[in-house]
Amino acid sequence: MFSISDVRSELPMLRAPISLMIDDWSFGYLGTGGDIPINLEFDRAYNFLLDIINLGRKGVRGKLSLVPYITKPKGVTHKLRGDYILLGCISKGIKGLPKHKLLEALNLLKGEATRYFDITPEMLTHTLALDVDSESLLDETEWEWSQRQDLDSLTKYIAHGLSVLRQVGLRANGITCPCDFGKEVEGVLARAVLEAEKLINNIKLTWYFLHVEPVRDGWHGSSVNPRLMYLDRVKGEAVTSIVSCSKEYITSSMIEKAGGDIYRLADNWIRDDGKGGRLIELYREGAYLAFHIHWYNSHRREDNIGFKVVEETVSRINRLLGDKVLWMKCNEIARYFTASKSFKFKTYKQTKGVKLRFEAPFHCQNFTISMKSYKEIKNVKVNGVALKNLNGETLKPNTWMMRNGRLYLCFNLINGVTVEIKQ
Ligand SMILES: [Zn+2]
Repeated sequence: MFSISDVRSELPMLRAPISLMIDDWSFGYLGTGGDIPINLEFDRAYNFLLDIINLGRKGVRGKLSLVPYITKPKGVTHKLRGDYILLGCISKGIKGLPKHKLLEALNLLKGEATRYFDITPEMLTHTLALDVDSESLLDETEWEWSQRQDLDSLTKYIAHGLSVLRQVGLRANGITCPCDFGKEVEGVLARAVLEAEKLINNIKLTWYFLHVEPVRDGWHGSSVNPRLMYLDRVKGEAVTSIVSCSKEYITSSMIEKAGGDIYRLADNWIRDDGKGGRLIELYREGAYLAFHIHWYNSHRREDNIGFKVVEETVSRINRLLGDKVLWMKCNEIARYFTASKSFKFKTYKQTKGVKLRFEAPFHCQNFTISMKSYKEIKNVKVNGVALKNLNGETLKPNTWMMRNGRLYLCFNLINGVTVEIKQ
């Protein structure tokens, strides 16, 4: 009989991971008609980049899509189906856009933006599928095309997107699915993301964003948590699906319905009194809080209401939830979640206490676990180094504390690490 029991993983430092996922961003024509000059499209995309870098400076973390190929609708209205012209690719140049402008934006992206956001391809065009050998458009959308592909063809397609980003100096550690790309073959998709990442970026722990869980399902918050889609402990390979937990509350129809009221729109995510809103409800249920927007809903209106709602939401999150949440990039969430699902341990009796030895296929910073302790804890050592005791405070890196008969500790998880608990 050990003097501890019920060892389980917890959220990092007992804080809810939160992440802002931005879809569909690139240098033109997603979500709009083809009658707008490319320079205006570029300026909007550039201003968006400056604005989200500002959010990053306020602590926001997440992911930003960069659609590698630019297509322009032939008509004046944006349609998800229809005719498109291919204007080029971010690694080779975009027709009508001076090269120095593209390079300037890419440098900004590679510099400060990547400190705050993972950059992912959102496959190749986000409109019509592309024949990657001839670089010509096919006559069906990427998501229609994707639903009847096998591992080889999906891997090739995804790898092409990753390699275009790599050519401009961006190492994307995951992908975003345009619309429901790969949903009907999701098991194959998950493997294809892994194979493509290994091929292009030598990455073995990866993730993708495909699913949105926008409403209460009558169940509890775990329905919006990430999902471990593939795990090979021996090879150290894993794929996690990161799920968005809410509707996008800044679509043009929602903005119209709310009469453009920024505060009312932000209430949908988090109310100003901190007592309601989707993020608050899920926070109470101990869920992961990744949520998404599309860049054009944020920045295509002259009045900029979409972005003002996002700014208000972020300021409420930081003010009302503060250090109850932890802003994380999507790859950090994927790593934490995967580590929490894949670690194992053995328990050894010691003269005064117990020792745990961990087997972990994935290392993970600030890994947090808890356990029931039947005796008072004197000290906790990780690989022989004492952790600081923070009784009564929030957990910080390399610390431990007691709460309601449970020991909570936060340490860096690596394969073979030992935790000695003196009682
Ligand atoms: Zn999209």
